[in-house]
Amino acid sequence: MKLHTIDTGFFKLDGGAMFGVVPKSMWQKLNQPDENNMCTWAMRCLLIEDGNKLILIDNGIGNKQDDKFFGHYFLHGDTSLDQSLKAAGFSKDDITDVFLTHLHFDHCGGSIEWNKDKTGFIPAFKNAHFWSNANHWEWATKPNAREKASFLKENILPIQESGQLILTEDGAEPFAGVKVKYMNGHTDGMMLPHINYKGKTVVFMADLLPSVGHIPLPYVMAYDTRPLLTLTEKAAFLNEAAEKEYILFFEHDPINQCCTLQQTEKGVRLKETFRLEDI
Ligand SMILES: [Zn+2]
Repeated sequence: MKLHTIDTGFFKLDGGAMFGVVPKSMWQKLNQPDENNMCTWAMRCLLIEDGNKLILIDNGIGNKQDDKFFGHYFLHGDTSLDQSLKAAGFSKDDITDVFLTHLHFDHCGGSIEWNKDKTGFIPAFKNAHFWSNANHWEWATKPNAREKASFLKENILPIQESGQLILTEDGAEPFAGVKVKYMNGHTDGMMLPHINYKGKTVVFMADLLPSVGHIPLPYVMAYDTRPLLTLTEKAAFLNEAAEKEYILFFEHDPINQCCTLQQTEKGVRLKETFRLEDI
């Protein structure tokens, strides 16, 4: 098995929303905001190359929304999904499986694109299965008022219509060496892949821990639908990850790709950061 980092670019989100109840005097040291309080975040995906499988975990914000939509998110950086796949030696048509941690637009927007004459939507990965789960699919296709703006119909429904959707479940191993674990605090049925790689467990953090700055327990995003549940899930995960020496892979950290954790008298904290290629 070989893992590749797939950078799809940066966007901006309000720092207050990203750090929840933590005051700005503290979080601004972790991710310096611009004059409008917006902070830069990565949309970093992961490609698993294993035998005849090429599995892409999440795929960024995509390119099919209008200027007004993208105007809210200040996309920047010189990487894109296509360029990063190319740098790894692949194209979208080579992808056999697209694993979607959840269906918020900054994680699954690259799944679907306009057709040639811009009259409808088609899967951007024509040879791939798209993986979600029944709980989350139900939750995302009948969205609550709070998450409605994050679940865009055009990102989700064409996947099902294409016939390329597959549902998995908590604890399943959809690919050899890749186990699925649900987290339900951020959204219902978010899936964190636990990947057995070079004798270590690499966990794709999605929105349980967006960045290294989110490691201390109270740093929970205001976006989370069940913040108290996130606290419980986070505490259990951090203890397990420190004990078992998991490698955390960050989707949204603008700088750090990976880290390990350690127990301290203050609780679980950062041990060291490093790049994926240094594992
Ligand atoms: Zn999310």
